[in-house]
Amino acid sequence: MVNDPPRYDRSVWRKSPTGPSELLKITSNEKPSRMKVSSSIFAESPMDLDAMINEHDQIIGEYHSKYNEISWDEMIIPDFSYFDLKIKIAENLLEKCVLCEKKCEIDRRFEIGSCRVIKPVIASEFLHMGEEKPLVPSHTIFFSGCNFKCTYCQNWDISQHPDRGIVLDPVKLGLIIDLRTQARINEC
Ligand code: SF4
Repeated sequence: MVNDPPRYDRSVWRKSPTGPSELLKITSNEKPSRMKVSSSIFAESPMDLDAMINEHDQIIGEYHSKYNEISWDEMIIPDFSYFDLKIKIAENLLEKCVLCEKKCEIDRRFEIGSCRVIKPVIASEFLHMGEEKPLVPSHTIFFSGCNFKCTYCQNWDISQHPDRGIVLDPVKLGLIIDLRTQARINEC
């Protein structure tokens, strides 16, 4: 008889000589994630891309020290944050897309580049039970499309077909992740 592997066994991280891992602290809500910390740092909202990148480079030192020190109690969300700045930079780069080394320089909002990706299409999302023990279960999201065309791609059916799947509102996706995770915790 094969026993089920232990679920949510994250003791490996707790037993680490360096103490609980950063990922464990974040997934247990002991520490804010990088995204949350970057959302708590004030940024200016410059109009052109070079100024935005300059602003981004100036804040990066503050971000690193804040990430190592900040607690949830100290989190204040400004009107425009370092995270918002990152989004604006990405949106600007999309307008003449150089997001990868193919550097198609097309306007990704209206045109199709080498990757043939326009909107983020989700091929599947699920709780992955086959990762290394401390990472089980991991919520896995497969996006369709890829800028590579590797001959032996094991995910070719979605990597080479960027239209396979659905476009999902990010808030809905977050809700699905929460519900799936909660259901799994309740099972244990
Ligand atoms: S392959 Fe896609 S992501 Fe890369 S530069 Fe071209 S359009 Fe942008």
